[in-house]
Amino acid sequence: MSRAVRICLAFQFALLALQPAAALAADIPAADPFAAARKRMVEQQLTAPGRDVTNRRVLAAMGKVPRHELVPAELRGLAYADQPLFIGHGQTISQPFIVAFMTDKLNPKPTDRVLEIGTGSGYQAAVLSELVAQVYTIEIIEPLAHRAEADLKRLGCTNVFVRAGDGYKGWPEAAPFDAIIVTCAPDRVPQPLVDQLKQGGRMVIPVGPLYDQNLYLLEKSGSKVKRTAILPVLFVPMTGGQGKP
Ligand code: SAH
Repeated sequence: MSRAVRICLAFQFALLALQPAAALAADIPAADPFAAARKRMVEQQLTAPGRDVTNRRVLAAMGKVPRHELVPAELRGLAYADQPLFIGHGQTISQPFIVAFMTDKLNPKPTDRVLEIGTGSGYQAAVLSELVAQVYTIEIIEPLAHRAEADLKRLGCTNVFVRAGDGYKGWPEAAPFDAIIVTCAPDRVPQPLVDQLKQGGRMVIPVGPLYDQNLYLLEKSGSKVKRTAILPVLFVPMTGGQGKP
């Protein structure tokens, strides 16, 4: 065998030896291209001075949930920017800081069952699914509810239950809840939601007309509900009947 043929054969064997490794590499998903952007979001936005998000579990959950998987494909590049984004049907996914702030104030515990009103993209529900035992979430726009349900399933959030309907009435069959988070703004706090909160339960809810809203923390104890205004905010209005016939 000539030297040239020997070299050529050796080269082919080397290629053969490489093949299984190459095939294996193709099966392993590429590293998350948004990991650095998500880390920056946590380190530079959520924990910026004055933003008052301190719960380590909340920050860890926000550092884990792939927000880019829940925004429209053409907006993925902005998924971790310090702003809300449109998600279709005239609705938005909240700014990451607002999600972090509201979740922090909800004080989620691993054993909690939580109700969310306003599923939207499903992002807030995905963050909660990392932090509590079960999440029940209601969205009034049916196509959004169905899309969020499919996306949450794809992301493996098996402890989230999505319902299409008017969240004003809550989810009586699954009540009472340890905590309730509302991500659309009613004119006043819906009484059915107060009724579906456990004793000692917390509710975080924006209330008021479009350009004059405040975020409130409600704490239920006995027949009393302590109400504290915590931040001026801008949320989409709660639609549906708001309890009116
Ligand atoms: N939490 C969402 C952001 C939601 S934006 C997220 O993480 O992406 C507010 C959502 O509340 C919108 O999708 C809107 O359709 C929904 N909404 C408004 N009124 C509602 C109602 N009465 N019941 C349930 N959802 C409502």
